[in-house]
This record gives sequence, C-alpha cells and structure tokens, in this order.
Amino acid sequence: MSARLNQSAAQILSSYDGPPLRIMEVCGTHTHEIFRLGIRKLLPPQVDLISGPGCPVCVTPVGFIDEAIWLAEHGVTITTFGDLVRVPGTSKSLAGARAEGGKVQVVYSPLDALTYAKEHQDEQVAFLSVGFETTVPAACLVADQALQEGVENFSLLTANKTMPNAYAALRDSADVFLYPGHVHAITGTALCEDLAAQGVSGVLAGFTAKELVTALAVAVKKSQEGEPFFVNAYPRVVRAEGMPAAVELIGKVMEPVDAEWRGLGVIPQSGLQLREAYARIDARKKFGMPRIEGKPNPACRCGEVLQGHCKPSGCPLFGKVCTPQHPVGACMVSGEGACSAYYQYGGDLL
Ligand code: SF4
Repeated sequence: MSARLNQSAAQILSSYDGPPLRIMEVCGTHTHEIFRLGIRKLLPPQVDLISGPGCPVCVTPVGFIDEAIWLAEHGVTITTFGDLVRVPGTSKSLAGARAEGGKVQVVYSPLDALTYAKEHQDEQVAFLSVGFETTVPAACLVADQALQEGVENFSLLTANKTMPNAYAALRDSADVFLYPGHVHAITGTALCEDLAAQGVSGVLAGFTAKELVTALAVAVKKSQEGEPFFVNAYPRVVRAEGMPAAVELIGKVMEPVDAEWRGLGVIPQSGLQLREAYARIDARKKFGMPRIEGKPNPACRCGEVLQGHCKPSGCPLFGKVCTPQHPVGACMVSGEGACSAYYQYGGDLL
C-alpha cells in the first residue's frame, strides 16, 4: 500500500495545501461537536468551516415565538423543549410571557406533552412542534395518537422544516455541505445524489470524532478531484433508502407548505403543516389565531450567521450585549446554535 493511502484522515486534513475550501456544517450538532472535540485545530487556514441552518430553534422565525406567546396569553398551556422558552419574540420571550402569568411547561418529547394534556383535562395544551425530518415522526405519532384517542384538549403549533429546498437555497454559500446524518437516516441519500448530479457536493457525516474527521477528510480529498461528489461517510446508520416507515408516517400526518426560515425568508415547500384530517389538533385553526408577523431585532445578525455570510464573532453584539445568559438572538440561545458554540468554545481563537 502506498504511503499516500496510509495517510490517516487527520493527516489528510492537516496536510491539505489546495485552494480555499468552504465546508458548511448544515447541522448545529456537527458545529458543536467539531468545536468540542477540537477538530478545528486539525484544519489548515484555507479550509473554512461555516455554520449553516441546521439548528431547528435557530431557524424558527420570530413570528412563531409570537404565535406561541399569543396562545399563552389566551389561556393555552404551552408545552415545549426548553431552548424555545428563552428565544426572543418581537417584544418578549415565552419566559417573559410565563413571568406575566402565561403557563409554559418544559417537556422532553411530544409524548410527554400529550401525557401532560391527558393529566390536565382542565387545560388546553399546545405542543410547539419544531424540528427537521429527524424529530417530525415523533410529533406525527403523537398527533395520530391524540386524534385516535379523542384527546380534546391537545393541539400542535407547527413550524417543522425539511432540508431539500434549504440546500438548494444555500448552494452558493459553500463548496461542500457536511450533511446531517440523522436527517438522512430518515430520508435516505437520493436527495444528496441528485444534488451532486446538479453540481452540489456533500459528505454525509456521523457524530463521533472519527466519523467527523473522516467526513472532513473525504470532503477535502474529493474536492481536489474537481468534480461534484457525494459520499456517505456515515454508512453504519444511513442507508440509501432511509426509513420508509417514518417517511410514510410524515406524509400521512403532514403536508409540505411554504415556510419562513429565520434569515433565509420564505423557502417554497420547505415546511410541514398538519393535513386537513388533523385540523382538530392544529392550534392555529383550533384557536382561530390571527396572522402574526414577527419583527426580528435589527441588531441581531442571526440571519446572516445561518447563511454562512457572517461568523458569530463578526456580530457586534457577540459576547458583549449577547451572551448565553442574556441572549439577543436564537443562535445564542440554542444548544445547537452557532453563536453559542463560538461563545462556549472560543470561536475564532481555535
Ligand atoms: S451574537 Fe447574538 S445578536 Fe449576534 S447574531 Fe448571534 S444571536 Fe444574534
């Protein structure tokens, strides 16, 4: 075997001497793990890792937080994952609404939210359903269960997103996408193959140190060949066909809809809403919610961060006005957010 073939993935990365290469970590968990594991230290200066839109809390628009607050102020108990509670809406966060008397209950799964509703029959309970293909099936299961069991006091406020059209919208922001392994464990790899055929390169990555370094090394090596490529570097979990049963469940309960992404605007058919058969548990319909448009804080550059146009440290508020204790934008709140990763791990100093 040649010496070249014997190179470890880490050596391939650190010895890269090709042209500048922008690799976008689509997934917020990848951003955090690459920082936490010290993988950035292996990269030569011309390999630029940029954070993408794969943090569900970060891409959820201000208007959705305002909708949840509207429900809380109309006597509906909000059940949600913890991160969303601190994300600023137009004038306050859900934490602020709770301080003013709104009922906001942190849960760890959609099933927890349904259980809470069953145990509190005197309350109307809405679950904030955000997230990508990875977590949508769990929300769909619960929607189905609530409908079948006739749970009258439970509903979903949805802001679920799907990745395909987001990749297309961001195709000029990076040279190579580091695709989120957990999303494609559900959806399979056909989309990534199609994107490669359209000239968009990407590597599907897992989450351990070995998997991430390998995926980055593959990205670096394949880029030097000069042709668009796709490589599944997470084959122990992602199969070409994905999980058809999960995809079928999503299709049964939800349908595609144009969706607003924080910073990216409305991306056609990039969201999911409950189908008409589930209207009874659709919080917007059930409570006659008016159209609510949020107004983002103009000083926050989350939108540019999510498109890779600005590093968190390039935001004038970063680390001064905006910290994890006093977040101004969603990217500093979320455990998967790029701003919180830069703050926690030292950002550009690494
Ligand atoms: S540092 Fe804070 S204000 Fe700046 S972009 Fe990030 S979340 Fe927004």
